[in-house]
Amino acid sequence: MNPTRGAWLALSVFLLWPLLAGAADAPPKIEAYDPAEFYRALSPHYRKLFASGPRKLADLPLYQLELKIDLLLGTVEGSEGVILKNPSAAPLSNVVFRVYPNSAHLVAEGGRNLTVSEAKVNGRPCAAREVDPTVLEIPLDPPLPPGERARIELGYRLVVPRLRENPGASGLDQLLASGGGGGYGILSFGEGILSLGFSYPILAAWTAQGWDTPELSGMGDPTHFEPANYLVKLNLPKLAAVASSGIQLGEQPLGPGPEHPREVFLLAAAARHFAMQISTRYQHKARDVGGVAIRAFVVEEQEATAEALLDQAGAAVALYQKMFGPYPYAGLAVAQAPLQNGAGGMEYPGLITVALSLYQPPAGGPMGALLGKLVEQTRTPEFVVAHEVAHQWWHALVGSDSLRHPFLDEALANYSAVMYFESRHGGAAGTQQIELELSMPYQMWRVMGGADGPVNRGLDKFANPLEYAAIVYGKGALFFHALRRAMGKQAFLGLLRAYAAEFAFREATPQDLVLLIRKKASGKKAEALYRRWIEEAHGDEDIGVPAAGDLTGWFQLLARQGGLGGPGGNVQLPQLDPAMLKLFQDAVRQLSGP
Ligand SMILES: [Zn+2]
Repeated sequence: MNPTRGAWLALSVFLLWPLLAGAADAPPKIEAYDPAEFYRALSPHYRKLFASGPRKLADLPLYQLELKIDLLLGTVEGSEGVILKNPSAAPLSNVVFRVYPNSAHLVAEGGRNLTVSEAKVNGRPCAAREVDPTVLEIPLDPPLPPGERARIELGYRLVVPRLRENPGASGLDQLLASGGGGGYGILSFGEGILSLGFSYPILAAWTAQGWDTPELSGMGDPTHFEPANYLVKLNLPKLAAVASSGIQLGEQPLGPGPEHPREVFLLAAAARHFAMQISTRYQHKARDVGGVAIRAFVVEEQEATAEALLDQAGAAVALYQKMFGPYPYAGLAVAQAPLQNGAGGMEYPGLITVALSLYQPPAGGPMGALLGKLVEQTRTPEFVVAHEVAHQWWHALVGSDSLRHPFLDEALANYSAVMYFESRHGGAAGTQQIELELSMPYQMWRVMGGADGPVNRGLDKFANPLEYAAIVYGKGALFFHALRRAMGKQAFLGLLRAYAAEFAFREATPQDLVLLIRKKASGKKAEALYRRWIEEAHGDEDIGVPAAGDLTGWFQLLARQGGLGGPGGNVQLPQLDPAMLKLFQDAVRQLSGP
């Protein structure tokens, strides 16, 4: 971006700031804000849709975040303004925010990572109520009439949780250790990178039952949010790079020296949440792919990785636009991040992260060597990129309740990544990914003694990450493969395009998917497939399992599929003696709880 023009754009938008911030003597009525500036953060297709459709950008909530980032301490001083329209047909007596940083798996007993210091409604101080550490209730007194707007202001301080030190741990070690909590590192400070996923109070989703506040789990994604517009002003060290949702409008230094901070102005439209990755270690490269500005952020000395990320994310965006319909936003950022506990990547609207560990030399020992070789041979990093980019359609665009029905976006994102491999690397590569990423998690889980079960259940109904991966990412994704085979590829893609168009920036339920399948796939067979794969337990018949209790068999299968041990393979497979087998089974039992 040309700096002069960038600064001008930023200024033109942020001239709005004092108007939006409200006068000292609070107005009795909050007027609609002008959404004109937000269209530029959308793709051309969705610009038109919001400009002409019944749904207006100005009806979405507006967040104004002013954040002072301390990269030495890993803290954020935040001032948050939210303008929202009463979402119900009745007078509204409260507004509820989710506070993910205070999730039980991220804080010590009784602790808080995020503390709210002040709250105001329409300029007047109010008493915010902490229902539980992750639920903040703002009373509206008098209640807000239907169709009217309120402005909430919050002041808060966030101490970003330190990344768990886990030197040398392999991916499998981390996965087996994840019962201890700490999360995936989506909100973390470590390795010189500040990861700010779900880092501020976010409006709870409004449902027929009111504000939705299910318990936040350390497993899966803590997301059930509705689209909103964002104006974000950061104050941060001059040398820190920012990968974020939305687009960067411009920036300005707050002094001549390298020690002086700078301000960065960001803007996002129709985003269910706003995430950032901030680091002085990041270098970045950009590329335009079919009108989508793609930026890759990598740590120092990984220029080749930046090119690979641009290639892969660019190819995924191009393919998915062809298969599923237009990409929602003007840009997409891809950033390396210190994810842990088995997470390979994470999706946010307009931003995806990929685990640094996938790009670093593997840990020592035979298990480390095996996993390192597997990552390389199975192209795990590319699969992760393809999966996370697919979430821009199946999460950012088509919303779903990731706590109660995580399969809706996860299974479809995983199957989308299979189609990416098939299209980019040929049918055999697609088949290999079906074996590795879909069938094997299921087979591994079964061999370790886990049970088959319905795909459609809430996060709290899965015993541990292995079961979650097996049933949702494995069996759930294989449902879409079975559906495609029953319908034929073109009809199947027609179904997905209709799904994306019908539920764009809205929320789909499992019932919505069933109704669409009924409409688009003629005959009862497709609907029966849904019941069989998603609601019932026929995994062993449909997917197959190696001999029960035979972990060695599973590793042999893994090795065959990963291309190990064959020509060019040079890794000694670990010999799984009965003691080793017992170790794995004990670990699984421990994860599963009593
Ligand atoms: Zn996912």
